[in-house]
Amino acid sequence: MATFQLQVVTPDKTVVNEEVETAICPGLMGEFGVMPNHAPMIAALKIGKLVYRIDGKDRILFISGGFVDIRKNKCAILAESAETAEQIDQDRAEAARKRAQERLEKQNGDIDQARAQIALQKAMMRLHIANLRVN
Ligand code: ATP
Repeated sequence: MATFQLQVVTPDKTVVNEEVETAICPGLMGEFGVMPNHAPMIAALKIGKLVYRIDGKDRILFISGGFVDIRKNKCAILAESAETAEQIDQDRAEAARKRAQERLEKQNGDIDQARAQIALQKAMMRLHIANLRVN
């Protein structure tokens, strides 16, 4: 099976550095697939789910947005944060979701509303991905 190198790097650490068969990235303009020998490309990613396949089995990673750089049979993702379903602390995500929702309900129209919207999206996506791990 043809493969390519997938690297997911955050400011703290390298979360993934493996040979994979496919990857589906949460692009800003929609999901897109990456296959071996993909054409060079750079794209922005949104808060979402990265799905990649090793030995025919899909693995899932939470990605907090970032960029992907594809070239020379290598797909490098730079993200602010990235976690596997197992690494997600559900209580923390639930607390973040509640905090963001309370801020949004105040509707005082300040700049924190936009930040709260992003925090809410991250928390909801973390909770969603954490719940996929039972499969
Ligand atoms: P919080 O409001 O709970 O701090 P956040 O969305 O502001 O969450 P990030 O800025 O995305 O957090 O991430 C900061 C660091 O904390 C990263 O290393 C990230 O992987 C980690 N992190 C954040 N939330 C969780 C979580 N629910 N489970 C595991 N790790 C988390």
